[in-house]
Amino acid sequence: MLMSSSNHSPFVYNRPEESVDAFKKSIVYKLIFLIGRSPEEASQRDWLNATLYAVRDLVTEGWISTAKEARDTKARRVYYLSMEFLMGRTLSNALIAEGVYDLAKEALNELGVNLEDVLEKEVDPGLGNGGLGRLAACFMDSIATLGLPGMGYGIRYEYGMFQQHIENGRQVEKPDAWLEKGTPWEFERPSKRYAIRFGGHIHFEGRKCVWESAEEITALAYDQIVPGYDTAASATLRLWRANAGDTFDLAKFNKGDYFAAIEERNESENVSRVLYPDDSTWNGRELRLRQEYFLVSASLQDIIRRHKWQNGGSIENLADKVAIHLNDTHPALAIPELMYILVDQEGIAWQKAWDMTRRIFSYTCHTLMSEALETWSVDMMGKILPRHLQMIFEINDYFLEYVKTYVTTDVDFIRRVSLIEEGEGHARKVRMGWLSVVGSHKVNGVAAIHSDLMVSSTFADFARIYPDRFTNVTNGITPRRWLAVANPELSALFDQYIGTEWRKDLSLLTELKAHIDKPELQKAVAEIKHANKVKLADYIWQELGIKVDPNALFDVQIKRIHEYKRQIMNLLHIVARYNAMLEAPEKEWVPRVFILAGKAASAYTAAKDTINLINDVATVINNDERLKGRLKVIFIPNYSVSLAQLIIPAADISEQISLAGTEASGTSNMKFALNGALTLGTLDGANVEILQNVGEEHIFIFGNTVEQVEKLRRDGYYPIDYYQKDEQLRKVMDQLNSGWFSPRDANRYQNLLSALQFHDYYQAFADFRSYVDTQAKVDEKYRDQKAWINSTLQNIVNMSYFSSDRTVMDYAEKIWHVSPLDVDK
Ligand SMILES: *Cc1c(COP(=O)(O)O)cnc(C)c1O
Repeated sequence: MLMSSSNHSPFVYNRPEESVDAFKKSIVYKLIFLIGRSPEEASQRDWLNATLYAVRDLVTEGWISTAKEARDTKARRVYYLSMEFLMGRTLSNALIAEGVYDLAKEALNELGVNLEDVLEKEVDPGLGNGGLGRLAACFMDSIATLGLPGMGYGIRYEYGMFQQHIENGRQVEKPDAWLEKGTPWEFERPSKRYAIRFGGHIHFEGRKCVWESAEEITALAYDQIVPGYDTAASATLRLWRANAGDTFDLAKFNKGDYFAAIEERNESENVSRVLYPDDSTWNGRELRLRQEYFLVSASLQDIIRRHKWQNGGSIENLADKVAIHLNDTHPALAIPELMYILVDQEGIAWQKAWDMTRRIFSYTCHTLMSEALETWSVDMMGKILPRHLQMIFEINDYFLEYVKTYVTTDVDFIRRVSLIEEGEGHARKVRMGWLSVVGSHKVNGVAAIHSDLMVSSTFADFARIYPDRFTNVTNGITPRRWLAVANPELSALFDQYIGTEWRKDLSLLTELKAHIDKPELQKAVAEIKHANKVKLADYIWQELGIKVDPNALFDVQIKRIHEYKRQIMNLLHIVARYNAMLEAPEKEWVPRVFILAGKAASAYTAAKDTINLINDVATVINNDERLKGRLKVIFIPNYSVSLAQLIIPAADISEQISLAGTEASGTSNMKFALNGALTLGTLDGANVEILQNVGEEHIFIFGNTVEQVEKLRRDGYYPIDYYQKDEQLRKVMDQLNSGWFSPRDANRYQNLLSALQFHDYYQAFADFRSYVDTQAKVDEKYRDQKAWINSTLQNIVNMSYFSSDRTVMDYAEKIWHVSPLDVDK
């Protein structure tokens, strides 16, 4: 127990109680005294916020205890640095973590408020693009539940991921002003503020390098509690906001130039203004570099302050007590930043500082496409972070010296592994991926196939230099949000058979195997899937005014729109199916609803055109009465975590159709399988391990393997050959080219389609035939509902491996070397 309720303590307070009556009182209290509303006048949002405050009370003591336990035991801690955290809504997850969902429902009910309505009112903060940010969120949930001494650091963007509207079939981006609705879950930490410096120049005083910065802004901390499931332990997510602080130009203000004074303030605060809406390529924008440094500098100052505070002011044992993890290269500046702190500020010898740094850092690589690896122009970095650039040069000298001494003197090799990509004048670049590898003791890929490819391609040279540095940790998802919160009916069913502990230990799902042949279980699973489909169909009707049949097969592809994910191949099959149905309308077609959702980066034309084409095709198909409602195409706007929670439990088929070798892992593939959808996928990312776990009878695998893809590339890939050979494909492409689906603007898709026909970098044509044929097998299996439900269950019971608890324990043991705390209730 926290602040001891013993008689000696002067700190007496009303501890929150877990009863309906106490909870009711607490909610009404918050409403009146924190929000300033009478219950009679309260809006749904007021009730939501009051409930959030009341629930936050339930987790706060455990949160403080967790921090105290870490302090008292001087535990080694892990800090997870990520530019993105896609946390999803807080309330339902917290209610389930605390085991008070039903209690809250009843309390609100007695107050005349419906919990489900209130839950839907909560904003879903989009502080991430997709998989990478959602992974960070699942990890926070597992860190909390496992009771690990860990903390996440990110940026509190004022505007998260844009809101996606669809107007005339096209994506339109609207700002996401998520803070306007209030943030009752958050604790502002006004005392945790750090100066972040930029620009200026460096000079040497003897051998000592001195950085005279030119600009300074302040980072302010905002904490969120991440409650662990069924434990007092909680984790902290600390997000930084930029405040112009002293950069406010009083001189200008006094001269009456109010707007100039504000303007400068606004400009420096831009650092936390908006999330970059792209997750694969950074086009070297200066503001992005500032954002990355802002996160890194604030977090490292905070980490070192805490460390010194707990270690009598000493920094000597920092590497024993601190692990810092880089979620992709975005926070890689933390490596030169720590060196700068240790060498310039703490006066530690360079070599010793470097040894410490490499014991502290580890790095997860999230991509294979080398063109997506982050680089920054040397000129730009020199302008914004002159000391850090200098430090990177020092690291590079030291590293290349090592390579020449112990590995090879081959100039070509040395040029390839140099942290600086050479080029004329302005073209010199800092390679952030290389920096991350050199500055870390462990580097991991995110699925077995990805980690293998990582050491054989992208990081092949480094695998030769540091053979023991590379490892694999396959991604996972939290079963709390992705089963307990997203699919309460299925969760309750499992509880009847195997108890409730699976939420904390997903390996218990294997105990369901003993029941898998029971007709009543199969029937119940089928009924729950159907009910979830009805729920989604209702949403589609409400939002889009389109009727879909819940008895149809729901075929779902939801993820960022990207060429490598091949939404276009999905569309080619849809049109081919449409044609086939019209050719034989009397045939017994398995009714299908194709559901797609996802955002396209605002500057990514091909992706935005793809959304438009999906909607154009949908309009024609959905209104074609000859199909008798047996084929529908639905694009659900504004994909988010909360939409994923609605859509995934309703899916029959999970489309995971990226070109082999392009999707590092994927995590939605795991969410779908855990909710009983069958995967239709290529041998890419974690699909490979899903196949190994569920067995080949319960998954639909198609398409070229990585080896075949590479061979095609080597031998010369000519998409037009496939077009000529495959009659069905040819007809689809001819239709699209003729403007069949965009009659008023026949050339709308010229760029998109000719890129496909003449280039097809992601080889959609090469996999088309195998994809369409496999889709026919999907129909066949769906006709046999008994076989289908059996496969559904086989998927679910074999998903134990994909819990992020397993993933995070792997990191904790193999990479971070941290152990769970003992936090009592
Ligand atoms: C899981 C998830 C993702 C990642 O999806 P992939 O299909 O693995 O790319 C992206 N966005 C949201 C909202 C998610 O929940």
